[in-house]
This record gives sequence, structure tokens and C-alpha cells, in this order.
Amino acid sequence: MLDPYNRDINYLRISVTDRCNLRCTYCRPMEGISLTGHEDILRYEEILRVVSRAVALGFVKVRLTGGEPLVRRGFVEFAAELKKLKGLEDISLTTNGILLEKYADAIFKAGITRINISLDSLDRDKYRQITRGGNLDDVFNGIAAVEKAGFSPIKINTVIVKGFNDNEVMDFARLAMGKPFQIRFIEIMPVSSVNTGHAEDFLPNRELMETIGRHFRLAPLAGKKHKSDGPARIYTLQDGRGEIGFIDPVSDHFCATCNRLRLMADGKLRACLLKDEEVDLKAALRRKCGDGELDDLIGRAVRLKPEKHDLDCTDRHLKKCHRDMSDIGG
Ligand code: SAM
Repeated sequence: MLDPYNRDINYLRISVTDRCNLRCTYCRPMEGISLTGHEDILRYEEILRVVSRAVALGFVKVRLTGGEPLVRRGFVEFAAELKKLKGLEDISLTTNGILLEKYADAIFKAGITRINISLDSLDRDKYRQITRGGNLDDVFNGIAAVEKAGFSPIKINTVIVKGFNDNEVMDFARLAMGKPFQIRFIEIMPVSSVNTGHAEDFLPNRELMETIGRHFRLAPLAGKKHKSDGPARIYTLQDGRGEIGFIDPVSDHFCATCNRLRLMADGKLRACLLKDEEVDLKAALRRKCGDGELDDLIGRAVRLKPEKHDLDCTDRHLKKCHRDMSDIGG
């Protein structure tokens, strides 16, 4: 489906739950968020219906996220049903990895073979701090489980917070030397109520790249190696087995190539991560609307896509949207 700026919108990110087993400091408020009641969360069969209409309209790619998708009961069975949808070419998962040791095999068998694992520190104490209680060993065991199960590619998403984990940039880069992982540095965004000190926390990826470039030879990867590379700038490391990716939503907008909509757990379809325009699908789904009405609602969200978001490094990053990232699904 073409949006008003001629972009082909064919990628749906789905937050299957707003619940999470971590409380990352830059993502979720300490007290938690006001969770959507179970009745108000889209049922799996409703999500499947939305995806099947989206696929009929030309969507080919889905990413499952959250909250933490693996905390929702029945997730594996849902993934297996999603996999059966004809025309859906690519299904991937973003997870914090805490429950992966338990679920890696089952998810893989269900048909999800691409995975992004969020990991912001390789130091146990710091990991516990930034996640407010997470156990790093759970994530390491999860990563070992996805390697063993055969996932490919395995991507590690890292948000660097200035003055907190910027001293670990090289440790993360070294991970990509020894393992065939893609380590992706994502610039911290002032999305939610928790990022009030964003200008102080923010470090442009350009600086991380300079740091890594002082130790390793980085060569830009021409074209996309993986279908799921999206807006990341990917570099190979000389003599390394993995890659480094940089995702720069703050310092270098990639809105011109944005191809996505976001379906949230409460049934709202969001046109842009950083803008609050949404279309409600749940009401229509619950009164068993026809396919035509659902198609119109998806089309309305596509038409709501702005040309670009207005995050700007020069205005001290004050622009925010009302939802927390843990709600939108990243
Ligand atoms: N629980 C899953 C996880 O941890 O990957 C999925 C949801 S989480 C919201 C998805 C991604 O959003 C994570 O990689 C997280 O680091 C990222 N994220 C959350 N808040 C962010 C922010 N303010 N700026 C940049 N990335 C953020």
C-alpha cells in the first residue's frame, strides 16, 4: 500500500502484550505502566485476522514485540498460526532474552528463525541496574539456546546511555568479532515520560563508530544482507565473524524509507513511532466487522503516515509522544 509520500507500507510490527518482565530505565517507568486489562488486549485470533487482511493488502513482513512477547501465554502456538498465513514472507521476534532458554526451540520449530535480543550491558551489576532487576545469565543462556537452535541472523540490540554503558561499546563490538552476531547500536530516543534527561543521556552513533573504528577496520556492507536489516547501517569487521549495525533515529532520520505500521496490544494501529495518530481496530474487530471495513481502517492508518517525525537533535530532544516505548513495542 502506498502512503501519501509514495512509500510502500508493507511491514507490520505487532506488540502482543504491554506486560514485561523487566523495567528498563529508559523504556518503562519504575512504577510500571497502567496495564491494559486482559479483556482489552487483542486476542491472538484478532491479531491473526488483522495480519491476514494486512497480507491481502500487500504487507509481507511482521515483527513480534511487546512489552515482552514471551511473557504472553500461548505465544508459541500463536507464532505457529502466523507462520501458516500465505503471503507472509518474514516473521521475526524482538525479545529481552530472559525467557529464551525455555522457548528458543519451540519458537524455532513454530517457524520464527530471525531474532533480535535486546541487551544493554555485559556487566552483571549494570545489567541489573538498567533493567531494574534482570539477571544477565538468563540472557546469556537465552543467546546460547538460540545459537544451538539454529536461529539466523541473531541480532543484539544495544541502547547506549551516555555515562552509563558507553564504556562497553568495545566489549559489544568484540562480541561481533568472535560470534556471527549483528550488534546493533540504537540511539536512545526521547519517546516516553521516562526520558526526561534525554539530552544528557544521548550519544550520537557517529561517536560510537569512531570509537570502534579506532580499534577495528569497519567496512560498509553494500546492499542488505538480511531482509530484516531495515534502516540499520551495517558494517563488517575485518577478521570478524559478525557485523556492527547503527540505527540513528535521532541524528539521522530514516523516515524517507519508513515502510511500517505498528499494531499495539490494545488494538490501536499507529502510523509513526514518534507521533500519536492512531486508528482503533479493536472496536471493529469486536463487532465482527467485514473484511472491507478492516481494510479501510488499515488504509486509514497508512494515509495517516506523516512525511517525517519531528525529533530534532537541536531542540534538546524535547519532543515526546504520550505512549511509553514499552507500550508501543519499539
Ligand atoms: N521486550 C522486548 C525487548 O526488550 O526487546 C521488546 C520490546 S522493547 C520496547 C523493544 C526495543 O525498544 C528494545 O531493544 C529497547 O531497547 C528499545 N527501546 C526502548 N525504549 C527506547 C528508547 N527510549 N530509545 C531507543 N530504544 C528504545
